[in-house]
Amino acid sequence: MATETAPELRYNELIEAFAQLELQEVPVLAHASLRAFGAVQGGAETLLSSLLPNVAALMMPAHTYLTMITPLAGPANNGIIYGRRQDQNRLAESFSAQMPADRLMGILPETLRQRPGARRSAHPILSFTGINVDNALQAQTLQEPLAPIRMLAENDGWVLLLGVDHTVNTTIHYAEKLAGRRQFIRWALTESGIIECPGFPGCSAGFKPLEKDLADVTREIRVGEALVRAMPMQAIFEGVANRLRRNPKDLLCTDITCERCNELRKG
Ligand SMILES: [Zn+2]
Repeated sequence: MATETAPELRYNELIEAFAQLELQEVPVLAHASLRAFGAVQGGAETLLSSLLPNVAALMMPAHTYLTMITPLAGPANNGIIYGRRQDQNRLAESFSAQMPADRLMGILPETLRQRPGARRSAHPILSFTGINVDNALQAQTLQEPLAPIRMLAENDGWVLLLGVDHTVNTTIHYAEKLAGRRQFIRWALTESGIIECPGFPGCSAGFKPLEKDLADVTREIRVGEALVRAMPMQAIFEGVANRLRRNPKDLLCTDITCERCNELRKG
């Protein structure tokens, strides 16, 4: 017996659904799982085509973790075990502007990056891509990898979680930095050799508790099988600042082998 499956989502349904979020006037940083929606006719292209008319500007992380190198030694208290991951070092790829966005972030960022009119910033690990976000992308430097988020926030930017939760919400990382949480140093392979990347954020596995703090400002809809949520970046900054003021060790994960959370727990 055939199992009952939900009908394919179509462009018209998607465009009507995203319109309900009322984000047409604001720039948006989106994180997405296409799979979470169930079947979508035309896949990632259809999802993007229905989202773009419903936002003023669209940015997504296009991070490239394959460039990362773990050195044999380096600065202390850096949330890293030096000399580990030598196998990954051997497989590391040199960053180039055409390097695909890491699959860890799903298919949407890479689809966006390849879209006509899309630009991409040049950070060898933490690049962003998007349409109508040129100023935000240009603001990124090695010293300030999350500057594109600062720029969107200055323009009343929102975060859009498309079938994903706060454990992929990069804006929480920027909020941690604003609240004074220490950042780390990482290294990337580039065409000019291995370069140091300061301002690298911590771990995001412990971010879920923030969800309830943001409930009052979150716009939430169901689209197909996916839960779609949007919230203002400024509210995220305030929520994180409140938590870290009460408990500087809040929003860390519970994995006892987590090198970055363990480092921050040391205080
Ligand atoms: Zn952790």
